[in-house]
Amino acid sequence: MSRTLPHHRACVQRLPIIRAMGEFELIDRFFRRDGARTADGVVLGIGDDCALLAPTPGQQLAVSSDMLVEGRHFLSTVHPAHLAHKALAVNLSDLAACGARPLGFTLALALPRADEAFLAPFAQGLFALADAHGIALVGGDTTAGPLNVCITVFGEVPPRQALRRDGAQAGDRVWVSGNLGDARLALEVFRGTLSLPGETFAAVRRAMELPTPRVALGQALRGVASSAIDLSDGLLGDLGHVLKASRVGATLDEATLPCSDAAAALDTSWRRTCLLHGGDDYELLFTAPPGRDAEVQAAAAAAGVRVTAIGRIDAVPGLRVRDARGQPIATASRGFDHFAGEPAPQAA
Ligand code: ADP
Ligand code: MG
Repeated sequence: MSRTLPHHRACVQRLPIIRAMGEFELIDRFFRRDGARTADGVVLGIGDDCALLAPTPGQQLAVSSDMLVEGRHFLSTVHPAHLAHKALAVNLSDLAACGARPLGFTLALALPRADEAFLAPFAQGLFALADAHGIALVGGDTTAGPLNVCITVFGEVPPRQALRRDGAQAGDRVWVSGNLGDARLALEVFRGTLSLPGETFAAVRRAMELPTPRVALGQALRGVASSAIDLSDGLLGDLGHVLKASRVGATLDEATLPCSDAAAALDTSWRRTCLLHGGDDYELLFTAPPGRDAEVQAAAAAAGVRVTAIGRIDAVPGLRVRDARGQPIATASRGFDHFAGEPAPQAA
């Protein structure tokens, strides 16, 4: 267990269920699996002071952490299996955005009680996605506290082949995978600001709770894409990071933005809010020279993901969005910022 202040440890010991199932029993029952020791690239998994990973010689290690906090990143009503899926998916999405191959991950978990009804489905959701990517849980930390899930993923990528935010060039096309906006649409239904028929809501809710990290696409885009980022905070905000890092501008065509029928049916203002500012999409946004269109499409086909060209990179700084008639749309280019709040929805 990591260093704990005395009063924190006292809190832990007052929790009766944590005493009934101790920390180590909890780890053994729900998180330790024999396979972790033999997984590709893992020399030593859960149970020692450190895990030992063996990346392929000559490859660079790609590392990323993302934390999910109850009330901030997920609703308290979320199914534990979906929560675990999303916690790992958002981390894998970062590896995807770098074109890295996942090797393994650690899990730092704070939870109010050692509750089997929570832990069993949580572990099931976690390992279902981990197994789909052939990666092992190699370590972590477990403590009593407000529900909080922090995962760190480790991946590998050949030297100089990582996809980065700083490589976009004037003239490149801007591409996005999958659909935009459904996760935000689901959030607005939960908030009560929008409503949807049951079946439609179920579909957008899946987009919010069970995002698919585009890991195969990211690797297939190595040597093809000039820059990439994964969409976690909204299209305009995340594209803004690429433009800033690459010192370029961009023009997007609103009519080309890929979305579900449910998002397409929204009024203009809400559709723009969901597609341009949505957040939680976990699609890849990337750039590539037009001469590489065929390679982009081949990478997408190999990964089994649809990609859509949505605009171009300009030498002129700034981010411009044109509507279907070619008229500029006024946009707040800021994406979601945990300390600044979110941009106000656009007027129609
Ligand atoms: P230490 O005190 O040496 O940091 P811990 O007692 O916290 O180790 O954890 C014991 C072992 O269990 C370590 O190998 C640690 O990586 C692993 N572990 C702890 N919590 C988790 C978890 N939630 N998921 C996976 N492994 C965990
Ligand atoms: Mg130790």
